Amino acid sequence: AAKSQGRGNFQFFSPSMNAATHERLLLESRLWQALEQNEFELYLQAQVELEGGGVIGAEALLRWHHPELGMVGPDRFIPIAEESGLILPLGDWVLRRAVERLQLWRDGGLGHLRLAVNLSARQCHGSALLPQLDRLLAESGINPALLELEITESAAMQDPEHSRKLLRELRSRGLKVAIDDFGTGYSSLSYLKLFELDRIKIDRGFVKDIETDPNDAVIVAATIALAHSLGLAVVAEGVETAAQREFLRSKGCEEAQGYLFARPVPVEQFEALARAGMAGYAELGAPS
Ligand code: C2E
Ligand code: MG
Ligand code: MG
Ligand code: MG
Repeated sequence: AAKSQGRGNFQFFSPSMNAATHERLLLESRLWQALEQNEFELYLQAQVELEGGGVIGAEALLRWHHPELGMVGPDRFIPIAEESGLILPLGDWVLRRAVERLQLWRDGGLGHLRLAVNLSARQCHGSALLPQLDRLLAESGINPALLELEITESAAMQDPEHSRKLLRELRSRGLKVAIDDFGTGYSSLSYLKLFELDRIKIDRGFVKDIETDPNDAVIVAATIALAHSLGLAVVAEGVETAAQREFLRSKGCEEAQGYLFARPVPVEQFEALARAGMAGYAELGAPS
C-alpha cells in the first residue's frame, strides 16, 4: 500500500517496512567494506552419494559476519551485491577461495572431493569469468573436473544464447556445470537440449513435500528420469528426512544434499566430516 502512494511518501512506510529498509541500508552501506575487512566466509555443505552414503564433495555457501547484525545469510545480501555490482569482486573472491581449497585438499589427502560454487547472473553474463577461471586453473594446477559451477535456471535463461556459449566454454576446460534450483525458473524444458551440462540440482521446494504431495513426487521422479535420459546426473537439494532420501534413491537419484546429512558448516568442520567418512550417516540408518 505504501508503495502505491508513490516514491515521495517515504515517511508513510509501515514500521516493518522501515525495519526492512533500515536493514537493507545497514547491509548495503557496509557491503563494499566487508570484502576488505574479511567479513565473508565460505561454509561448506556436504554432498553425499545416495547408494553408498559417502561424501563426494561439497557446495560452497557464502556467509557474512556483519559486525552489527551478526551472521547474515546469502539470501539477504546476494541480491544487494548483485544490484550494486559488488557481486563481481565477491564472486571472484569465492572462486579464488574455492580453488585454494581444492589445492589444499589435493595436497592433504582429500583429493577426491569435488567443490561446487554458485555463480550469479551478473558473473555469468559478464566477460571476466572465463579469463579469471583460466588464470586460476593455470596458477593452481587443480583438476578442473573437481570444480563444479552452479548456475540457476533463471540466471541461465536471462540470455540463453550467451549461456549456451558460456557453458560450452566451461566444459571445454574440463570444468563441471550444474543447473541449480531446477524447476523453479518457469522456463521451457527445451533449454536442456541447448545447454551442455553435467548435472541438475532438483530444487528443495520439490523435495520438501515428496512424501505428502503426490504432484511433487511425480515431478521429482519425472525430473530424475528426464535428466537420466539426457545423460545428466541428479543431485537433490534440501533432503531432511530418511523417507525423502529413500524416495530419491528408489528413483535413481545419484546424490543429495540436505540437513539429514549435514548442514553448511565452516571448512574445517566439513573436512573433519569428510575424513570421518560420514560416520554419522550410517547411524541415521543408511544402507551400507
Ligand atoms: P542454493 O545454491 O540453492 O543453496 C542451497 C541452499 O539451501 C543453501 O542456503 C543451503 O543452506 C540450503 N539448504 C541445504 N540443505 C537444506 C535443508 O535440508 N533444508 C533447508 N531448509 N535448507 C537447506 P543458503 O546457504 O542460505 O544459500 C542461499 C542461496 O544463496 C543459495 O541457494 C545460492 O543461490 C546463494 N548463494 C550462496 N552462496 C553463494 C555464492 O557464493 N555466490 C552466489 N552468487 N550465490 C550464492
Ligand atoms: Mg547452489
Ligand atoms: Mg539450489
Ligand atoms: Mg536456492
